Formats: sequence, C-alpha cells, structure tokens
Amino acid sequence: MAKVLEGVAIATAIKQEVAEEVKTLAARGVRPGLAAVLVGHVAASEIYVRSKVNTCAELGLYSDLIMPPTDVTTEAMLELVEQLNGRDDIDGILIQLPLPKHVDAKRLLDAVDPDKDVDGFHPINAGRLLAGRPALVPCTPAGVLEILKRSGIAIAGQRAVVVGRSDIVGKPVAMLLLHEHATVTICHSQTRYLDAITREADILVAAIGRPGFITPAMVKPGATLIDVGINRITTREEFDRFFKGDLKREETFARRGSTIVGDVDPHAFEIAGAYTPVPGGVGPLTIAMLMANTVRAAKMRRGL
Ligand code: NDP
Repeated sequence: MAKVLEGVAIATAIKQEVAEEVKTLAARGVRPGLAAVLVGHVAASEIYVRSKVNTCAELGLYSDLIMPPTDVTTEAMLELVEQLNGRDDIDGILIQLPLPKHVDAKRLLDAVDPDKDVDGFHPINAGRLLAGRPALVPCTPAGVLEILKRSGIAIAGQRAVVVGRSDIVGKPVAMLLLHEHATVTICHSQTRYLDAITREADILVAAIGRPGFITPAMVKPGATLIDVGINRITTREEFDRFFKGDLKREETFARRGSTIVGDVDPHAFEIAGAYTPVPGGVGPLTIAMLMANTVRAAKMRRGL
C-alpha cells in the first residue's frame, strides 16, 4: 500500500511552529505583517486571499487586505506597491494572481521590494535561489520540499523528474531538489519520450495543469508522486475516468456538480510508494509556507 503524504497534518505542524515564532517575536515588540492585494472578482482568488488573511489572524500575524477597483491602472498599482515597500508594519507583500489583463503583472512583481517578496516571484529572489543564497522561496515549491523532508523521503542521489517549468512551481521545485542533491530532469510540453523519462523518476513532481495527465504507465512502481495540480472536473465522463467506484467522491460530485483532481491520474497512486492526495496534499502547504515566509521576511528585515 502506498503511503499517503498528509499535507494537512504537515501544514498544521508548520503553522504551529510559525505561531510559536510569532509569540517569540511579540516578546521583542515585533509583529510580522502581510499586505494582501486583491484586484477584481475571480472567485478562486477571493477564496485564497480570504484564507490567507484568516490564517494570519489565526497565527497572530498582522494583515492588511487591500482591494483596489477592477479598473485600477498599472501606474496606480505601482504607487500602491511603492507605499507598501515603505511601510514599516508590512513585512510581506502578496499580489494575488491572476491580475486583470490591462494590469502589467511583470512590472508590478518586479516593483515589490525583494526583501518583502513573500511569494518569491521577484527575479532577485529567483536568482538567489539559483545561486543557493538565502532567499524567499516560492511557497508551493517550498511546501513540496517540506512534505518530502518531514515525511522522511530520501532526496539526495534520487532521480527526480519535474513535469512543468513555470516560474511559480516547476523551475523553483527543480532548483530546490537539485540543492538537496537529487539528479533532476525538467520536462515540458516539448519534451519527447516523456513517459520514458517519468518512468525513471524516484520522485515525480507533476505541475502541469491537466487533469490526471500522469497515467499509471508513466510511473515507476514504488516512486514518490507529488501532485501539485488542482483541476476541477465537471463531466460524468471525466469523473468515471478517475473516480468510478469511489463512493465518497461520488457523493461530493453529486452534491457540488464538480470535484477536484490533480495532474496525476489517481490510479497511478496505487503503484506508488508514497503520494500526495488531491485535495489535502500540496495545497495546504502553500498558505503555511506563505506564513513562514512572512515571519522569515520580518526577521531578515530586522537582522534577527
Ligand atoms: P503553468 O500553466 O504555468 O505551467 C504548466 C507547465 O506544464 C508548463 O511548463 C507546460 O509546458 C507544462 N505542460 C503543459 N502541457 C504539457 C504536456 N502535454 N506535457 C508536458 N508538459 C506540459 O502552470 P503552473 O505551474 O502555474 O501550475 C501547474 C498546476 O499546479 C496547475 O494545476 C495549478 O492549478 C497547480 N498549482 C497548485 C498550487 C497549489 O497550491 N497546490 C499552486 C500553484 C499551482 P510549457 O512550458 O512547454 O508550456
């Protein structure tokens, strides 16, 4: 039986550690603060941001939710970022993506003070990560590493394959695994003989954005599967492909008319050595690591 890597429990442990650290900092008169900027009305973004702000409150961090109007200009957003860069009560700045099309997201992310860049998206932090210097690391990739380490999965010397090369997930995950001495291959949409490469992986990270893309035939028996994907499926055909006979899922699907599947076909979990479920695997780590990054930024900025 494959081992389930319980993201919820690991995220809870990390949040407890963060809350302890927040208490220690409070004794020194420091309260880490996060500014969350949300533009527009994308339902998923609203849920994510609310959850981030609520977690701040739960762990004792200060947070400021800023919601500029949907028609805000890039210039006005740049001004806002400048203000946040200068505010002493703000240690972390989070600009929730996606932004409306008329806003230049790259310019904005580049304007965030790298020392307050708790999402780790600034080129300076990407460069620091590449160079192996202390950096604010993107939250989801940092969470993937926490899952592996805290679950006792060996990384050094292992063959790791990352499918997906985004700046937000694929590339930083690959870099973190490399720093932990895995032998890393990064695959993408132009990769040839993908299944032959994924079958060599001791650790296979899927960050693709396609429901159930990694099939059992692409997996080496006993491999560790890290499924970063979050895909909503709504058709009976897709449901039956992945979850036929799963009564708990059936109940959710009937009630909501949809359910979530990762980038790994759940049938592949049956031959894995260990895997992160979806939901409840990598997802919960993202917010936990955002909290950890905000505390880290608060300490770094004060030279603690
Ligand atoms: P992107 O769309 O930015 O990147 C997807 C990557 O997958 C690209 O590098 C793309 O290759 C590659 N890809 C697409 N199709 C194929 C294919 N047929 N074969 C091989 N590679 C392919 O997505 P993200 O990295 O932002 O997100 C990936 C997934 O992770 C999504 O499901 C997203 O929802 C989820 N996610 C989950 C988070 C969490 O908290 N758990 C946080 C962030 C993301 P190419 O570069 O060639 O186009």
